[in-house]
Amino acid sequence: MSDPSRHIVIVGAGHAGGSAATMLRQLGWQEAITLVGEEPLLPYQRPPLSKQWLSGEATEESLVLRPATFYAGASIDMRLGLRVTAIDRTARTVTLSDDVVLPYDILILATGARPRRLAMPGSELAGVLELRTVADAEALKAALHPGARLAVIGGGYIGLEAAASARTLGAEVTIVEREPRVLARVACPLLSGFFEKFHRDRGAAIEVNAQVEGLEGEGGHVSGVRLADGRVIPCTVALIGVGAVPNDELARSIGLACDNGVIVDLAARTGDPAIFAIGDCTRRPLPLYDRVGRLESVPNALEQAKQAASAICGKPAPAPEVPWFWSDQYELRLQIAGIPFDATEIAVRGRVEDGKFALFHLAADGTVQAVEAVNASTEFMGGRRIIQRRKQLTRVQIEDMAVSMQQLAA
Ligand SMILES: Cc1cc2nc3c(=O)[nH]c(=O)nc-3n(C[C@H](O)[C@H](O)[C@H](O)COP(=O)(O)OP(=O)(O)OC[C@H]3O[C@@H](n4cnc5c(N)ncnc54)[C@H](O)[C@@H]3O)c2cc1C
Repeated sequence: MSDPSRHIVIVGAGHAGGSAATMLRQLGWQEAITLVGEEPLLPYQRPPLSKQWLSGEATEESLVLRPATFYAGASIDMRLGLRVTAIDRTARTVTLSDDVVLPYDILILATGARPRRLAMPGSELAGVLELRTVADAEALKAALHPGARLAVIGGGYIGLEAAASARTLGAEVTIVEREPRVLARVACPLLSGFFEKFHRDRGAAIEVNAQVEGLEGEGGHVSGVRLADGRVIPCTVALIGVGAVPNDELARSIGLACDNGVIVDLAARTGDPAIFAIGDCTRRPLPLYDRVGRLESVPNALEQAKQAASAICGKPAPAPEVPWFWSDQYELRLQIAGIPFDATEIAVRGRVEDGKFALFHLAADGTVQAVEAVNASTEFMGGRRIIQRRKQLTRVQIEDMAVSMQQLAA
């Protein structure tokens, strides 16, 4: 099937890279594809790492996007456990960590992101963990034994999901957040308040406005989180979940434009027509909002994989999608469509106290910019359609439960 004379090299065998390889074959690319991934595993989904992996419901087999036989059958050359260490744009080659040099005609950077590190005393102690890979999740799972006390530093999605999983497993949990509320960067105050209450009701302690000064240890193992106000929160394991930084160093090293992510267009192309970039490592156009941004989500990884594969295979560009994301915590499924740029008003559909509601973020002219739906998938699906169509609605219309979502989205 493969003609080595035209060669696509994909750097990073994660959700975006693995999906791009698959889509290239689906769209008819018949020539060589090599997928290089630093992790030893086949491309896999990360969302279960903070959820089903910790509870023991997920295995490596259930995580992988496709089995090894698929890649072999599709003539996709897998180079796993290897890192791309250098790119030569003039010679069109990449160098791998085993010193092998591969020529490319088209390069796709799908290097993802990595957890942000906190430079503070004690971060080198055993039991101070982060959560990005299966190896990280396995270490966290092992630490969540009966009697464990987990301190989660950072009240973002991954921190809250891990906290929910740990409580379900019976661990004591304290969430330490620097901002005045959890999810401060990504959700509106109403939603933050709802999740804060939900986690507290399930027995997690939450410290907001809490500045971490350092980690304390005993015998080389973490034993507490020291706050600026002098308090020490005792723990047997500390999870640092303070966001992710894009792996854009390779792109920078070859002079591609980067700004908190590799800058790409709607075909996922960088400034070099032979180099594409997809997934968490990119900063991309958000055409619905006339802005650019970096998205960290599975739907974004899939959308950009499709954009790149379509451009490479000469297929029509896929229609831009409404950005979306989900997060599972306890029995809550949060689904978010859109981004609340320039929103001036929030319409609440359903009752927050029932744990089944959706928050619609409206711009001043009534355009629905984003929907945050908790256990309300009909509102999420309808909201997505409304956002896609740039439909304008009033708060009264949205909050009227006598009007169905179907009618609102029509
Ligand atoms: C715990 C957790 C929970 C999540 N939950 C959700 C969720 O509920 N919903 C959702 O939409 N999203 C979720 N996400 C985010 C989602 O998983 C990411 O957006 C998605 O994985 C991005 O795919 P990617 O391919 O860009 O990056 P990744 O999946 O991170 O893959 C990048 C790969 O490239 C490799 N790599 C980097 N540099 C090199 C190099 N130089 N050479 C070779 N290989 C390299 C990395 O090792 C990595 O394997 C979650 C993420 C985590 C960590």
